[in-house]
This record gives sequence, structure tokens and C-alpha cells, in this order.
Amino acid sequence: MSPFAVPIRPQPTVPVAGSDRLFPVRRILCVGRNYAAHRREMGGDDRDPPFFFSKPADAILPPGMDAPYPTATRDLHHEIELVAAIGEGGRLFGFAVGVDLTRRDLQAAFKAKGQPWDAAKGFDASAPISAIRPFDGTIPQGRISLSVNGEARQDGAVADMIWSVEEILVEAGKLWALEPGDLIYTGTPEGVGPLVRGDRVDGAIEGVGALSFKVV
Ligand code: MN
Repeated sequence: MSPFAVPIRPQPTVPVAGSDRLFPVRRILCVGRNYAAHRREMGGDDRDPPFFFSKPADAILPPGMDAPYPTATRDLHHEIELVAAIGEGGRLFGFAVGVDLTRRDLQAAFKAKGQPWDAAKGFDASAPISAIRPFDGTIPQGRISLSVNGEARQDGAVADMIWSVEEILVEAGKLWALEPGDLIYTGTPEGVGPLVRGDRVDGAIEGVGALSFKVV
């Protein structure tokens, strides 16, 4: 007899590019307000440092899957982000292209009341991701872009991050023990905006890869 009282859910995974191996997702950390122009478009104070929030591991939407339009929002937003994947010893394993899907209307209401963001950020399928490209010694610095139905929405440079990838690892390490399977969404440049059912989202980061999904 199984020792488990209810069925165990499958381990969320992300494919590793150029390999048939899978990256098992342990935890998803996200950095908020890590690009100055996005911090301004969200009404943030220029002196506020970036900060962390999280999504559950099973919020991952693997490559090739459609994103269901979530319940309880009328303002679903896209945020294209470089994702750092953590491997053995808490060291960098690789990078992926991710989208931090956000119920912007709920986030605005929670901000106004000083309430937690979980329902605005950590909903089912809220973390689309590409295959993970193994770390080759070079931290991406180049173009990060997203289009919706072929129309450019976000177009920035990873080099403009306020906290660099190295600094994010240091800051996260002050708050959590980074373990194999952890993913860190490192923040989005300006140009976030709404998605509706039927939209085709294409994102890319120079030197990392591309992701594409449909909102259904
Ligand atoms: Mn974000």
C-alpha cells in the first residue's frame, strides 16, 4: 500500500536544450522591479531596491504548452524575463527565457491594501518557460524582447538590470539556501501590457533562446 494518503503530483520539469534530460523544478523565486524603466512604469520610487516574491513550482508552463487565460482577472499581463536555473552546490546550471504572467488588476488592489501578491503572481500556469540552456561561462547581457501577435511590446537589454545575475544570487542566498532545481525569474524591462484569449506570445533573449505560447 502506498504510504501517501493522496496521490503524489508529477514532479514539474523543464527540458534541457541540446539534451534529452530534464531539470526538476524545486522552487520559483522572482525579482520585482529589477529594471529602472519598468519600476517607473509601475509607479515605483527610484530609490526602492529590487525585491523577491515567489511562485509555486507547479506554476511552470513547459515549452510547447498553451497558457490558459486565468480566472478572476480582466487584466492579464506579460513580463518577459531572463530565468537563472540553479544546479549542484547552488551554482548556476543554465538560463532560460521566461514570462512572469501577472493578474495586474489583482496586483494593484493588493498593493493598495498592503496585502500579499500570491494570487496576482503565483496562479496556475503563471510561469511559461523555454528549454534551459546550460551555462557556458557567459552570463547573458544582450537583447530581451517580447511580441504579441507579431507586434513588438517589450524590447530591452539584460545589461540594464539593477541587480545583475551575480548580485541576485548573492541577495537570494541571504534569504534562502539555493538548491538544485531552483529557478529565479530576474525581472522584466518596460513595456508590460495586456493579453487576451487567442494572443500568440513570442519572447527571445540573445544567447539564451526563445519561447512561444498561445493564450487560450
Ligand atoms: Mn516580473
